[in-house]
Amino acid sequence: MQVTFLGTGAAMPTGERNQTGLLLEDPGGGADPLLVDCGSGAMHGLAATDVGYEGVGTVLLSHHHLDHVSDLLPLLKARWLAGETDLEIVGPDGTGALVEDLLSVHDYMAGRFDLSVREIGPGTFAAAGYDVEAVETVHSMYCLAYRFESDDATFTFSADTEATDAVADLADGSALLAHDCSFPDGIDVDNHPTPTQLGEALAGRDLGRVYLTHLFPHTDGEHESMVASVGERVDADVRVARDGLTVDVSRRPS
Ligand SMILES: [Zn+2]
Ligand SMILES: [Zn+2]
Repeated sequence: MQVTFLGTGAAMPTGERNQTGLLLEDPGGGADPLLVDCGSGAMHGLAATDVGYEGVGTVLLSHHHLDHVSDLLPLLKARWLAGETDLEIVGPDGTGALVEDLLSVHDYMAGRFDLSVREIGPGTFAAAGYDVEAVETVHSMYCLAYRFESDDATFTFSADTEATDAVADLADGSALLAHDCSFPDGIDVDNHPTPTQLGEALAGRDLGRVYLTHLFPHTDGEHESMVASVGERVDADVRVARDGLTVDVSRRPS
């Protein structure tokens, strides 16, 4: 499995980071390209990959905050222009209404797509050929974290969440974990973790590499201290994610 970070930013732009988006690929395996979340700019990140926006047939949403869904309609429009009108959209309760409402605002797009919407909840399901397990996170909006299994690898994406045992349990045994680390230590925050809180939640878990993502501008200049704060509590290779980075998950770092 390969994971490409299309967007590692959050709702406040940094000038360097798109909003949340991840591309999962399974070279040589049985799964299809999967887009996970689709915030502002993620589609540009997708266009820079070999798969491109034309090559993704399934989008999986973690929750409905704008920084995770705002490129959904631009993605549909770009695919339409490229002759691709079918798309499966998978997400938590309310995803069907969200898609319907968005399309109703732009009525020139109505009836032009062959969309399939599937609402999922905590538990297991399949998406684009991956076996996925979901747990609810602790966030200001209902949100799901996902663990993806392919033939050769396990990857967990926390989505937006405070540091919780549920997400740490979900991630346990993953070669790669991408986790919300929106703010540096010293900032009093709800709905997202600080590095210290994240390190404490992940302590003792079996993890190969951890990428900190969903970075607010407050983290600029703080990356070293954030990595150190998580890394001193977790036995894993802790790094800060960046847009355009592709990680080969099947080669688990020792
Ligand atoms: Zn977010
Ligand atoms: Zn959110």
